[in-house]
Amino acid sequence: MRHYLSNIYLGVYTALVGMRITFKQLLQPSVTHQYPYDRSFEQKKNIREIPKGYRGKLHNRIEDCIGCKKCEMICPVDCITIATQKLPKGERLWDSMNVVHLKDRTEIVGNIEGAEKPAPNTAVTIQTRDNRTVAVASEEIANVVERKPVIFYLDQFDIDMSLCMYCGLCTEVCPTECLIMFDNLSDGIEYSTFDRTDLIYEFAKPEMYEQPTDESTEAEAAD
Ligand code: SF4
Ligand code: SF4
Repeated sequence: MRHYLSNIYLGVYTALVGMRITFKQLLQPSVTHQYPYDRSFEQKKNIREIPKGYRGKLHNRIEDCIGCKKCEMICPVDCITIATQKLPKGERLWDSMNVVHLKDRTEIVGNIEGAEKPAPNTAVTIQTRDNRTVAVASEEIANVVERKPVIFYLDQFDIDMSLCMYCGLCTEVCPTECLIMFDNLSDGIEYSTFDRTDLIYEFAKPEMYEQPTDESTEAEAAD
């Protein structure tokens, strides 16, 4: 009988010892994150930075893309789709073009006054294709790209990130270095979605090739 009672005591005691951590955690605040409904935790700055050169989400600075299709050809899983149209013989969209990439990730497209490619860390004045003159301070500029005459329209430039295996080959062959992989926390690693089609990134901007009409230029001048 004594042995029987001792077994019951030991059974209850060891169960309680085992549950000690569970009881302790019952009183602690919740640490579970309802990801991806709640993304704020992932975006906090207290996570370790990812290293430079990390192969994150792909991005194409489409203003600099010349539609050469080298990235499409080298992709081992065929997740890049490009459709271009060649302009009629002798026709070109513009003789040359500069793209000033600003640090706030916007860009100004047009022709820089003076040198075609200004020296690094200098302010520039750019004549946009809709005839505005914009002065940009050197500290606002991330980089300046010079483009040769455009002979292709880019009708489609899609990357299916759900197929991508992050080999980075496409970025290495890109002659204008416009195709990049983000290596920062906010853009590079966190892009989950509920719908798989949202992972097909469409970069083509047909509006980039539209010549401004007289009416739109006048309307802008009036503003
Ligand atoms: S990084 Fe992705 S898109 Fe680029 S070549 Fe590799 S698999 Fe293709
Ligand atoms: S390799 Fe670069 S320039 Fe050529 S199509 Fe691809 S992104 Fe555009």
